[in-house]
Amino acid sequence: MKWEGNRESDNVEDARTGGGGFGLGGGRGIGLGTVAIALVAGWIFGINPLTILGALDGSGGAPMVQQQQAPAARPPPEDKLARFVSTVLADTEDVWREQFAQAGGTYRDPKLVLFRGAVPTACGQGASAMGPFYCPGDQKVYIDLDFYETMRTRLGAPGDFAQAYVIAHEVGHHVQNLLGITDKVDTMRGRASEVQRNALSVRLELQADCFAGVWAHHAQAARQVLEAGDVEEALNAATQIGDDTLQRKAQGTIVPESFTHGSGAQRVAWFRRGLEGGSLQQCNTFEARKL
Ligand SMILES: [Zn+2]
Repeated sequence: MKWEGNRESDNVEDARTGGGGFGLGGGRGIGLGTVAIALVAGWIFGINPLTILGALDGSGGAPMVQQQQAPAARPPPEDKLARFVSTVLADTEDVWREQFAQAGGTYRDPKLVLFRGAVPTACGQGASAMGPFYCPGDQKVYIDLDFYETMRTRLGAPGDFAQAYVIAHEVGHHVQNLLGITDKVDTMRGRASEVQRNALSVRLELQADCFAGVWAHHAQAARQVLEAGDVEEALNAATQIGDDTLQRKAQGTIVPESFTHGSGAQRVAWFRRGLEGGSLQQCNTFEARKL
C-alpha cells in the first residue's frame, strides 16, 4: 500500500504508555493470557465486546461508561506502525466525509485508541485477546498493534493492506453506527434466538467488510493507494479470518449455525463487492437472499 507522506489523522489516541489515567496497573494480556488463539479469533473484528466480556467476568455485559481522566497522547512520530494506522484512519475519514456529504449528511470521525493488554471502554473492559473492536457507546475503534503480529504469524494474513482492511472494517462498524444500523440490529437481537442472533451478527459483519471495500474503492480512485498484491492481501485476510477457516483450524469441524462473522468466501465476496462497486447501497446484507 502506498501511504507514506499521506495525511495522518488527529483522531488517534495513544493509550499504550500508561499514565493516561487508565489505572490498570499496566501489563499486557491481563487475565486473558491463557485464552487460546482459536477461541480468541472468533472474536476478531467483533463489533461489541459486551457479550464476551459479560461471559468472562459474569457481569452480564451491561454497558458501563468509564471515564478516561486525561486526554490520551498522540503516538510518537518515529512509531512507523502507529503512523501507518493513523494514515489509514485519515484516509477513511476523507472517504467517508465525502460519501456522507454526497448523501447530504455529515460524517462524524471516530477516535482510534492504541492500547496494550487491556483498556476501559464505554462497552466495558476491552482486552487484546478479543482482537480489534469498535465500541458504539464511545464511537472508538480499539486496537492493540500486536494483533498485526498475530495476523502475520498465526492467522496466515500478512501484508500492509491486510492491516488496512482491519482498520477499514472497524470503521465500517462506525459507519453502521452513524447510519442507525447498529441500533436496529441490537433491537432485533433482543428478541431473537441464538441462531437468529448469530445470523444477524454475520450480516452486520459482512456489511462492515463491504464498507471496508467501499473505502478501498474510493481511496484508490482518489489517491491510488493500491500496489500489486494489495487486494490479494486483503482477500486472503478475509479468508483466513472467516468463521469456517477459524473453526476448521480450531476444532477440525465447521458449524455454520455458530458463525458470527461469515465464512471466508462470504467475507471475500462482500469486501470485493464494496471494492468493485464503491457504493453503500450495494452493501445491504440484510436484504440479501444469498450471502
Ligand atoms: Zn466486525
